[in-house]
Amino acid sequence: MRRRGRQAWLISRAQSILDNMHCPFCQNPDTKVVDTRISDDGHSIRRRRECPKCSKRFTTLETTMLLVVKRSGNVEQFDRNKVISGVRKACQGRPINEDDLKMLGQKVEEDLRSRGLAQVKSDEVGKAILKPLRDLDMVAYMRFASVYQNFENLEDFQRAIDELKGASSE
Ligand SMILES: [Zn+2]
Repeated sequence: MRRRGRQAWLISRAQSILDNMHCPFCQNPDTKVVDTRISDDGHSIRRRRECPKCSKRFTTLETTMLLVVKRSGNVEQFDRNKVISGVRKACQGRPINEDDLKMLGQKVEEDLRSRGLAQVKSDEVGKAILKPLRDLDMVAYMRFASVYQNFENLEDFQRAIDELKGASSE
């Protein structure tokens, strides 16, 4: 019960940070984001905003929480390192180093945060991993996709391979 209460608090807090971005000049509640940068540790976002009413620009440093809703219904803070450790196994024996993994973790986080949502489903995290992993290494991608997407038979693999061929000839 206490745990649920904390989760609800986390969600409403994250949402209120996103919602309450008034213009500091004219208090207009509606502001437009013109540039977004995520800090290296992934815990804060610097946004350049513009007020559509008075046209003034200002910068906000937001430490918004990105929450992941797991299949069990539990909610936890997004952790880039969990993405990396989830992918690492699929990368065994492949020419992928720690820097590649770090970069992948960053891309996944940027993708998820760019959606502007306070929470995402764990499935969405898995999906966000697929594309950057495909760009990194096809074999690691196939390994990860086969587990993540529950490949059960040869047809599943064949379909994924066909998709890969289609994607690489684009
Ligand atoms: Zn304004």
